[in-house]
Amino acid sequence: MADICPKCGLPKEICVCDILDRETNRRIKVYTEKKKFRKFMTIVEGLTGEELDKTTKELKHVLACGGTSKNGVIELQGNHKNNVKKALLSMGYQEDVIEVS
Ligand SMILES: [Zn+2]
Repeated sequence: MADICPKCGLPKEICVCDILDRETNRRIKVYTEKKKFRKFMTIVEGLTGEELDKTTKELKHVLACGGTSKNGVIELQGNHKNNVKKALLSMGYQEDVIEVS
């Protein structure tokens, strides 16, 4: 039997209550870093646990790029600064917690 969220009544797999709850005291930072050989990496900071894994997978899919996550930091290959915010918004993150610098 699937776990049902007591808040919204949806199965936990598709419920975003946890994400919304955590929005209040969180910042998601998005910035780019130039790595060796002049390659850009797009860094997304501020996510943890299951959410980190889920979001990494989703971003790699949406942006069609390679990437990894560790220690609360997502590293995406290439410069996706302009698209990451849009992608995060479509995943249910709130605009005012996303800081693009
Ligand atoms: Zn819910």
